[in-house]
Amino acid sequence: MKEFHGRLHKKYYYMIVSFIIVLMLAGLLVDNPVNSRFAVHGVMIVVISICLLVYPCYENAWMKYMTVISSTGYFYALFYLYPETWSEFVLLCFIPAFSILFFDKRLFYFSLLINFAFIAFTFGYIGFVDKGQDYPYIFIDLVGNVVNFLASQILLYFIFHLTNLRIQKQRLYYEQVQQAERMRTTGQLAAAVAHEIRNPLTVVNGFLQFYVEDPAFSQSQKQSFALMMNELDTAEHVISQFLSVSKPDEGEKVDNVDVELILQEVTDLLNMYGLLNDNGIDLNVEMDCHVAANSIELKQLFINLIKNAIEASPHSGSVKVIAAKVKGHVCIQIIDNGRGMSQEEVKNLGTPFYSLKSKGTGLGLMICFNIVEKYNGSIQFDSDPGDGTTVTLRFPLIPN
Ligand code: ADP
Ligand code: MG
Repeated sequence: MKEFHGRLHKKYYYMIVSFIIVLMLAGLLVDNPVNSRFAVHGVMIVVISICLLVYPCYENAWMKYMTVISSTGYFYALFYLYPETWSEFVLLCFIPAFSILFFDKRLFYFSLLINFAFIAFTFGYIGFVDKGQDYPYIFIDLVGNVVNFLASQILLYFIFHLTNLRIQKQRLYYEQVQQAERMRTTGQLAAAVAHEIRNPLTVVNGFLQFYVEDPAFSQSQKQSFALMMNELDTAEHVISQFLSVSKPDEGEKVDNVDVELILQEVTDLLNMYGLLNDNGIDLNVEMDCHVAANSIELKQLFINLIKNAIEASPHSGSVKVIAAKVKGHVCIQIIDNGRGMSQEEVKNLGTPFYSLKSKGTGLGLMICFNIVEKYNGSIQFDSDPGDGTTVTLRFPLIPN
């Protein structure tokens, strides 16, 4: 994910980085004799500064790893160059905190791992080689320092883990809000447009029906009229689908619906559709799967999803439909071995008019999402290109 979207964001980043560089330079220049360790320290500052300054321009995984590695190198270099400054050890404990800024799980684990490797070497060096000569404050209580180091790493791990969980939840919430906003706008648009278009269509359709019966027109003209009426029916169908999204909810009946019954009806209906390409539907439903919903809408939901599965399936491939009770929910899965979808395609599902079919409307899933949300359910698509798709629906179970 890109972190530097706007210029403002970048401006803050550069301000903070400049401050860090000034601090590092102060550490180098203030009260520090110019000798070989001054030179090594200076080189480390140059490397880390370049990494930090260049990062927003490239912002890729490689740059992140380079920045983390160079900062780790920097802090260990300080520790070895200035043994008299005991507080350098505290900085070593905080090295993985640096990678928390990038919110990348793998990068954080990588940083923890290299810190463990470096510290193991460092404690070994102090315990067996240095023996308290340069680092007496660590050698005096070596075990205590090792324990403190481990505790600091565990603490950082928990901070990262909890913050990461919260951010993931927030991201999910943001996506849901976006989806809801999209549905709301589409609904309003649909209501306005559909209303304005439906009436003239009905008038034109009525006239055409009248002309088809009229003996004054020739047979070929009547054929043209029939074609026009067919096209008008298609338009009417799209509008009806759109309207079902924007329809106000009041007055709609919510029943205690037996999923088995509905799925059986839908399967009977769609078996005919599947015959065209020799696709069968295998139904496997547990008894007493009851949910609170409107039966017509639930039917519409299953029809849309199973129809998509059939359309994606190869010749004579079958679609599996499973329903079972799982932890207080009714879980319904529609599994096909069809063309499958990429992650990008899955992300676009439910967007109005998103369709990869030559005759698709791209409204089916938008309606499905709407129905699922209305009855407190959830819908999930697991798909791999070429491997097929599994759609998992969950609705709260009504105990029998
Ligand atoms: P439509 O069926 O009219 O194209 P939908 O909203 O029902 O509209 O579906 C949108 C798109 O999602 C489809 O065009 C198809 O590309 C993709 N899709 C939906 N279900 C599946 C599936 N089971 N396997 C592969 N692709 C699917
Ligand atoms: Mg469809």
